[in-house]
Amino acid sequence: TADGLRERLRRIDGRGYKAYRDLEGAYRFAGFILYVDHAQGDPFAPPSRVRVRVRLEDAGFPSWSWAGRVAQVALCDFLARKLFHAARTFSRRTGTGNGGQIFTAVPGQEILERSAVVLDRASDGPYLEARFAVGLPARGRTIDGGAAQELFFVQIPQLVARALGFHADDAEALGRHVAVAEDQAALRVLLEERGWVAFVADGSILPRLSGASDAPMPKERAVAFVSPPERRVAVRLPHAGEITGMAVPRGVTLIVGGGYHGKSTLLRALELGVYDHVPGDGREYVVTLRDAVKIRAEDRRSVVGVDIHAFIGELPGGTDTRCFTSASASGSTSQAANLVEAWEAGARLILMDEDTSATNFLVRDARMQALVPKSSEPITPLVDRVREVYRVLGMSTILVVGGVGDYLDVADTVIRMDRYRAFEATAEAREVVRRIPSRRNPEEAEPLVPPRPRVFHVASFRREERERVRAEGLREIRFGRETIDLAAVEQLVDEGQTRALAYILARMEKFADYLSVRKTGGARKDAEEGWMELREFLAALEALREEKGVDGLFLPGETPTGDLVFPRPYEIAAAINRARVLRARP
Ligand code: ADP
Ligand code: MG
Repeated sequence: TADGLRERLRRIDGRGYKAYRDLEGAYRFAGFILYVDHAQGDPFAPPSRVRVRVRLEDAGFPSWSWAGRVAQVALCDFLARKLFHAARTFSRRTGTGNGGQIFTAVPGQEILERSAVVLDRASDGPYLEARFAVGLPARGRTIDGGAAQELFFVQIPQLVARALGFHADDAEALGRHVAVAEDQAALRVLLEERGWVAFVADGSILPRLSGASDAPMPKERAVAFVSPPERRVAVRLPHAGEITGMAVPRGVTLIVGGGYHGKSTLLRALELGVYDHVPGDGREYVVTLRDAVKIRAEDRRSVVGVDIHAFIGELPGGTDTRCFTSASASGSTSQAANLVEAWEAGARLILMDEDTSATNFLVRDARMQALVPKSSEPITPLVDRVREVYRVLGMSTILVVGGVGDYLDVADTVIRMDRYRAFEATAEAREVVRRIPSRRNPEEAEPLVPPRPRVFHVASFRREERERVRAEGLREIRFGRETIDLAAVEQLVDEGQTRALAYILARMEKFADYLSVRKTGGARKDAEEGWMELREFLAALEALREEKGVDGLFLPGETPTGDLVFPRPYEIAAAINRARVLRARP
């Protein structure tokens, strides 16, 4: 009980810091249970991990806020935000090191499955569980029992009351949070039903505050999105009612227009439309297929065993591009690998911007074809493959182009951006194609066949005990002495995702074992050799998420922490694929 905690604190007051270890355990407070999972070893060590559990019934949340998976995710995301703010309010710096401080994950503009707050359907009724970290107070290196009493009996109870209780004045904000999430879920269903790959609502605010902030550009400056009348559709959503916007159909879509007219901004909104956004973001009704992957050129990346021969034929020196490996890929080979890897992970839509693509991957124009014979050009440019990418690989494409007009020949849909407004330009583009032929010859190539999916060696992620694996900010993972560079993995949005990627890589063999046991119910095939089909690994992780939510990341025997967000299969694949320790074969 809480009295037990009070008693222990009295006992260890003034003793050496290590005695805080005695606090590890569970304590029943009025209205919640507190778990001290891990006490830090000294005042400067990473803070101590705690959890609190409250019964959903006692917390008083109305049933609409947790009826159904979508509402639950939105409720927990909402509470993770409350927790973040409450932690700031009730954090007190005291004594040495991180004493008295309360640490939580920092949420951004997306509604995500965060491990910070989860709904746990325990047999004795649903619980809300919040995970965070606290700095245990010390004077010098001795325990400050008084400040610790303050932390456990004032700061934490206040935090719980603020963050995990239902307050009438929150009802409206919570209602909006759940409503926009449910509307976005409804829009995603509509995408499937109507054969669209994306929807952008009229009135959306796409531009962001700055390159460094994902907050919306202020309404006075931003031009709200207006759909082309020819492409405008009306949809009915459960909460927002009828709204209109631009539907992007399957197939090959170009976004064209002059420089600085808003093409990349529209594409960026589509890239992030794989996630749900919070109320007030401006992109609440901008949704893209969840299986959309932004790819770009990424020279110098590591590529292991990827079949890129549909795009890159025989290379000088006789490198086999059916199983392409490079410690430092070029612009075009890296982009080809990114495309094939996205397909392998299950992508159904590819997003690309001419700004960040390798020109020779996109096209070879008539003059270059005349000057450089096909026999000495290994690349079959995407312009000659993009229709097969759709037909054979089942991936639609949305491509931003400002300069490469040869794509007009292969597009199903053309949208033109002009002063941040979208216009329908498909018919005009056809007319241009008729009037001004491109003169290039489609490059002779064998028909595209789906690449063979790879198997990877799960033990390639084995490492020495002392080699740490950790996320460094949003786009980098330290894996022992190696750095996995995720700078080009542009759909990572939350450091919790990156931490989860590091967490998975660090436990690769455990995950592989656990997932194959789950699947086969015991007998693990291939156990000896430890090879696993990458696609299968990703699908099994995704099934785990669907069944258990973000807590599926915590394998049996692990204590949940509040700092993870379940990544998409595409980002998991991206981290695995860029690891220089990876061994893989078709
Ligand atoms: P492009 O890719 O066509 O060259 P960008 O999308 O990069 O253009 O946009 C150029 C600039 O215009 C950026 O600074 C962006 O923030 C701003 N911008 C984009 N869309 C809008 C909009 N709808 N309203 C106001 N500013 C915008
Ligand atoms: Mg641009």
